Amino acid sequence: MPLEHPVRVARWIHKRYQFSGPPVSLAPVLADYPIKVDLRDWPPDVSGICVRAELLSSIGINQNDTMGRRHFTLWHELYHYLIHDDECQFYCVRPWERQRRERECNIFAAHVLMPQEWVVELEGPLWVAARKLGVSVQALSVRLDELGIRRME
Ligand SMILES: [Zn+2]
Repeated sequence: MPLEHPVRVARWIHKRYQFSGPPVSLAPVLADYPIKVDLRDWPPDVSGICVRAELLSSIGINQNDTMGRRHFTLWHELYHYLIHDDECQFYCVRPWERQRRERECNIFAAHVLMPQEWVVELEGPLWVAARKLGVSVQALSVRLDELGIRRME
């Protein structure tokens, strides 16, 4: 596993699981690690949790979030699990970009779900592109801004 940098870890995940096009699937990754995923009925500011345990760790995501947000949160929590192994529990609430570790998780999730080489080839309206990637329109907009790509709404 490459050390620390979320973009490098995202590339490593893509290579290891041979994701060849959108949307990426978390299933093959979850098959390799003892993690269970639960849906929880939480208020809107709570996105997810990651609880590390010796035998079986768990990731919880907010069932009231849209599918795109849930995908993003799953990968966000997975980064906590894979990399932040000096802590046992992460409780992720929005806005979650304030802390360094939360930002790292978001960078990782964005690069796994929306690698540059996929994003530059997307066609059609923004919402269609977002659906194809399995992300929210908001997350795709942020990624397009980062990459300096302008699109019609
Ligand atoms: Zn988090």
